[in-house]
Amino acid sequence: MSNKINKVAITGGTHGNELTGVYLINKYKKNPDLVKREGFETVFMHTNVGAMEKCTRYVDKDLNRTFIKNDLANDMLYSYEDILAKNINAKLGPKGSEKTAVDFIVDLHSTTSDMGLSIVIDNDNKLTWQVVAYLKEIEPNLHIFRWKGDTKEVSFVNSITKDGFAIEVGPIPQGVLRADLFFETEKLVGYILDYFEKLNAGKLGKKYKTIEIYDHIKLLDFPRGEDGDINATVHPNLQDNGYFKLTKGDPLFVTLEGEIIKYKEDKEAYALFINEAAYYEKGFAMCLTEKKVIDI
Ligand SMILES: [Zn+2]
Repeated sequence: MSNKINKVAITGGTHGNELTGVYLINKYKKNPDLVKREGFETVFMHTNVGAMEKCTRYVDKDLNRTFIKNDLANDMLYSYEDILAKNINAKLGPKGSEKTAVDFIVDLHSTTSDMGLSIVIDNDNKLTWQVVAYLKEIEPNLHIFRWKGDTKEVSFVNSITKDGFAIEVGPIPQGVLRADLFFETEKLVGYILDYFEKLNAGKLGKKYKTIEIYDHIKLLDFPRGEDGDINATVHPNLQDNGYFKLTKGDPLFVTLEGEIIKYKEDKEAYALFINEAAYYEKGFAMCLTEKKVIDI
């Protein structure tokens, strides 16, 4: 935690149809001074150029589920994204090493659901949480989502380094560049770099002790018929609503015949990633979370 930051990586295009990150990296390529700060180096890169060219999420498989230590070491895995992941891991990592090539990764994403400006965090490291708390102080509307994952080991791009997170902004349709959220994302990246500059210069006034988060409870699938096909979708109350509070008896889904399926759990929850387009193939209609304040 007291160690200085030497190198930070900003990555975009991990999902090739999420254009905020793609174009922000393009902007940095043209104006590298935008990410220059005193006392450390910032590197930036497009991670999945093949998917960007096709404007699809991926070519063979989801790159943001590919950074699993055993898989990175497995020469028998050679899909487009498996090879990409090995190359990126060699450049920024290697994952699990005590001294990775970069100290912190910020991976840029967008979502079709109404998540506003959000951070998806998947580690419990002190530095990461201090950065997030700093951002939350500057941007009170920022939402913090602690992800527990759909794979055993966290397999995100930003899991290569001990510290880091993903920025998720939405709603943005796939393949669309949306101005307001582009500039919000750019601003947030700027604040992150400012934090490291202050950290290295010993100019950070305080340590943050607590933060409000949305903590992962579970991923919820759509209702399905016997054939496995979806037979209901997200109820209009939830559609276009981010961080939607659910209490027992609230409408949750509606069948294609118009029948309402209610939220039946006793425990209140907040739904997010509601009706995210990319999660249909994963079998998630939304993610249920618990709102809480945690010590950091
Ligand atoms: Zn993404």
